Amino acid sequence: MLNWSAVRKLLIAILALVLVAIIVVPGYKTKKQSEIQQVCRSRLEQIAKAQEKCFAQYGRYVSGLTEISGDSLNFTCPLNDSRFILDTPDSTHYKLFCPNKHGWISEKRASWKQE
Ligand SMILES: [Zn+2]
Repeated sequence: MLNWSAVRKLLIAILALVLVAIIVVPGYKTKKQSEIQQVCRSRLEQIAKAQEKCFAQYGRYVSGLTEISGDSLNFTCPLNDSRFILDTPDSTHYKLFCPNKHGWISEKRASWKQE
């Protein structure tokens, strides 16, 4: 014989868990997304610092990411490890951006620091 009262209790418990998951999971995802974005932007800032250093030293920006050397530099977006894109119309201008639209950075300006 099935114990319907026990089955009902079990169903209520499962339903409660599902409801909690529905509430918690989206918040967790959003938090994770913003963490990834933060890491991505700090990597972009690190590269921008290296660019400024190069400009101060040689009077020009580096036109290829492979030319930038740095111990802790990372040239990929943490979301899916896709490579940042460096756009250099000439040696005194550059724009570095994340292919996943986390932002861009160019001569001392960053997309996430604009009013
Ligand atoms: Zn990114």
